[in-house]
Amino acid sequence: MRGKNAVVTGSTSGIGQAIANALAGAGANVTLNGLGDAVTIEAERAALASRTGVNVAFDGADMTKPDQIEALIRNAEDRFGSVDILVNNAGIQHTALIEDFPVETWDAIIAINLSSSFHTMRAALPGMKAKGWGRVVNIASVHGLVASVEKAAYIAAKHGLVGMSKVAALEAAGTGVTCNTICPGFVKTPLVMAQIHARAERDGLSEDEAVRSLLGEKQPSMTFTTVEQIGQAAVFLCSDAAANMTGTQLTLDGGWTAQ
Ligand code: NAD
Repeated sequence: MRGKNAVVTGSTSGIGQAIANALAGAGANVTLNGLGDAVTIEAERAALASRTGVNVAFDGADMTKPDQIEALIRNAEDRFGSVDILVNNAGIQHTALIEDFPVETWDAIIAINLSSSFHTMRAALPGMKAKGWGRVVNIASVHGLVASVEKAAYIAAKHGLVGMSKVAALEAAGTGVTCNTICPGFVKTPLVMAQIHARAERDGLSEDEAVRSLLGEKQPSMTFTTVEQIGQAAVFLCSDAAANMTGTQLTLDGGWTAQ
């Protein structure tokens, strides 16, 4: 992937950080993005650059703000010359029944988990098509394929992202640009730790018991998918082996959706 330039949204934590690490490890220059403490982010940016020898930049664009999202892509193109790989990963979660779901939280989840990918893609696809090569990898979820209770906004956004990715794939077909989604089951990141802690408190369980209860409901392998496995899946989708894969969903869910 040497000479390719990647943008990974939400790459200051969890899955996005692992994808950025994997792409940089495979030789791509990377623009990081996300929220967090500025000193920590700068230390991680510098460490990734020195570990891999590629150029690593950071852009703190807020994924709820279309003008900042467009600027993220323009600045990345100006900085490295192109955006060849776009990974839409930034996401948040909130659990509540529909009748209890805070309206502003619905709006935030739709903006970050769905609309931000529309804004990055509308900015980045013309450059990819002009170059005749591009990879869009959208981080959806098993919740882009099936539903669970109390996740209306997240599931609406992820189903929307799977659908929009198919549209992008069809519109780019034959141009050298592909668009696919990765659909993980449970991955142990801060996003899922919040659900484990909530379950432990609600049901009076230890953290280990809450993990077994969470996985036991949905993920037959009874193990988490790791962030490193998702990083390698993203590298695969960006490789020549996946040049004719487009509009598909790569599911890493321990058997969740086989049931
Ligand atoms: P995480 O909380 O560890 O990371 C989320 C990232 O998004 C962080 O870098 C955060 O700063 C960034 N972010 C949040 N709001 C933002 C905003 N307004 N602007 C810019 N960046 C913002 O969570 P994660 O588990 O690594 O999740 C990453 C993606 O993977 C999400 O889209 C999530 O839906 C998806 N996913 C996660 C799991 C899982 O089990 N953890 C499963 C399936 C899909």
